[in-house]
Amino acid sequence: MDRIAMRTPLVEMDGDEMTRVLWADIKELLIAPFVELKTEYYDLGLPHRDETGDQVTIDAAEATKRLGVAVKCATITPNAQRVKEYKLHEMWKSPNGTIRAILDGTVFRAPIQVSGIRPTVRTWEKPITIARHAYGDIYKNTEIRVPGPGRAELVFTDAEGRETRALIHAFDGPGIVQGVHNLDASIASFARSCFGYALSVGQDLWFSAKDTISKTYDHRFKDIFQEIFDSEYRARFEAAGITYFYTLIDDAVARVMRSRGGFIWACKNYDGDVMSDMLATAFGSLAMMTSVLVSPNGQFEYEAAHGTVTRHYYRHLQGEKTSTNPTATIFAWSGALRKRGELDGLDDLRRFADALEKATLDTIEAGCMTKDLALLWQGDTPAVSVTSREFLEAIAARLKEALQA
Ligand code: NAP
Ligand code: MG
Repeated sequence: MDRIAMRTPLVEMDGDEMTRVLWADIKELLIAPFVELKTEYYDLGLPHRDETGDQVTIDAAEATKRLGVAVKCATITPNAQRVKEYKLHEMWKSPNGTIRAILDGTVFRAPIQVSGIRPTVRTWEKPITIARHAYGDIYKNTEIRVPGPGRAELVFTDAEGRETRALIHAFDGPGIVQGVHNLDASIASFARSCFGYALSVGQDLWFSAKDTISKTYDHRFKDIFQEIFDSEYRARFEAAGITYFYTLIDDAVARVMRSRGGFIWACKNYDGDVMSDMLATAFGSLAMMTSVLVSPNGQFEYEAAHGTVTRHYYRHLQGEKTSTNPTATIFAWSGALRKRGELDGLDDLRRFADALEKATLDTIEAGCMTKDLALLWQGDTPAVSVTSREFLEAIAARLKEALQA
């Protein structure tokens, strides 16, 4: 079989623990036999991040700016215990945080659906993608515990020293106050990432906030979205046959629960934090969630939403053949290869990405799956729980057959 050629390399970011093991197996069994893979390889595994003083993470993000499409393996975000375990020089920052700061992106998370694993909400027929704003609000807040009677005020001092003041509350007794902020520039880049992503997948975009209560703060989000939509995206949305609409967060929640799915839901930072965990759980499993970081300039970084599956890795180190689910990591590869195919006009590569995803889903739907899915399985055929390696081999066999047909 002729292998499919690529033009521009993908930025490949290798990672840690069990997902690093799966990464190598996916490349060996599902990519290399079919594609003449071109990548710029960056080893974001913790030992190499430590050796390079974390420069490798910055280099990988810069490469993504240059080349446009990256695929990333899950990585350890070190804590005190990891500093000891890996004898680190420093407690390095979260690689995802570093990459997001450089690309200024928004993360979109979508579940991978298979028949046989039914969402808890029975009307959901298609995936719902969450886009969470990743800057500001309570995640960058300032709080004071008020000890007793007194006045709490908001004071803004401009560059010339002029003050704007507003009373928050005149306290009769003890209480609490909190200051939060956001930036027009950050909200605008969030909006552009959302509109751009909706166009790239051809799905409607919803955005929700609470502007009826928060008449200046949340209203600013609503206005920025609307201004950017009207001036930059309305015509393209109409041409693509998709819509944008704003609604209150409580109305959005009610609509989501009775929807059939198949849209993107843009959320403020806190709403996105909470709602993404609810959606992931209601759709099935973290091992079936994809994640893509989209920059406002149209760069894409694909990964799985889960971590490095440490508990499985320790069993792997003891010689056990684990049944860790590689599906989301396979979809990170297929997502990146498909996007590369689109940008470079390589139909073969796009078709390969489709075939890889189909072979993966068909394998599961035929009853062959990892243990986490077997536990959730409600399909007609009985589930056979296999090791990761056996699962990947079964997908490879189907893929080979499909591509030769
Ligand atoms: P995790 O790696 O997502 O795993 C948590 C648990 O979820 C696992 O122990 C396993 O449950 C289950 N699970 C997750 N993915 C699975 C898969 N593919 N197949 C089967 N089961 C799966 O989260 P964590 O244990 O909290 O974090 C581990 C490391 O990952 C940490 O060092 C953290 O910093 C890092 N992390 C990285 C990213 C990223 O790079 N994007 C994201 C999150 C966490 P059972 O053990 O019950 O089978
Ligand atoms: Mg959370």
